Amino acid sequence: MLKGKKAVVTGSTSGIGLAMARQFAKNGADIVINGFGDADEIERTRSQIESEFGVRARYVGADLSQSAATRQFIEDAVEALGGIDILVNNAGIQHTALIEEFPVDRWDAIIALNLSAVFHGTAAALPHMKKQGWGRIINIASAHGLVASPMKSAYVAAKHGVVGLTKVTALETAGQGITCNAICPGWVRTALVERQIEALAQKNGTDIETAARELLSEKQPSLDFVTPDQLAAGAVFLCSDAAAQMTGTQLTMDGGWTAR
Ligand code: NAD
Repeated sequence: MLKGKKAVVTGSTSGIGLAMARQFAKNGADIVINGFGDADEIERTRSQIESEFGVRARYVGADLSQSAATRQFIEDAVEALGGIDILVNNAGIQHTALIEEFPVDRWDAIIALNLSAVFHGTAAALPHMKKQGWGRIINIASAHGLVASPMKSAYVAAKHGVVGLTKVTALETAGQGITCNAICPGWVRTALVERQIEALAQKNGTDIETAARELLSEKQPSLDFVTPDQLAAGAVFLCSDAAAQMTGTQLTMDGGWTAR
């Protein structure tokens, strides 16, 4: 379905981003992966995507918490693939603390990566997409882009910001063959959440699986984790013709989290 398309997924060395990169490649897109991690492992991931799906896969590293590096990253990705059709702004981090105890450097880091990088990446990708009259921008927000939880001020502020930025991007590109949508996942069992499960287990003196069930029962009525593959299928759908008139929306995939 995406044969010949060129897709760039930020933060795709693990978790949701990696599943998205693989799913785009499975559907025929050439792909740029990005993110931190062990160089040998990243190379294994990259070459496996190429051999498994018969597409071009390139790794372009960049610290996307830096504005200039983020804009340069898009240009490097365009150079690596010869263009950009799909941008998934996915890279993100988390930190939990009460507002008055929230470390300023953690606030700055979360806003820089989870919100500002979406702005800078979008700003750098749009001229390419406008020139060709086709583009898909998918911002990985969160249920926390729609509702709040205590202890997550920076993350909730950033993700609400991403939902707003998604709408502005949609309005500024409407009628130009470009769409911009947000995906708002509930709990997904990636490294980002595993750390929160471990912290809960430690706080309550329980084992990990008990803590995982507690985490789910507090927020996610389905009592089951959303999988990275399910989110990736949602992203592919947003790139399909069926979604050509979907823009500025939030695709919530959260097991019912935001329904109550
Ligand atoms: P993850 O920790 O598995 O992956 C994060 C990715 O971002 C990794 O590839 C990491 O190397 C990369 N990254 C981190 N800092 C970076 C930086 N400065 N520059 C470039 N890359 C950087 O986490 P995940 O759960 O897959 O999260 C992906 C996205 O999904 C995030 O935006 C997160 O907020 C969002 N999300 C996650 C959940 C969940 O439950 N896991 C729920 C809702 C939304």
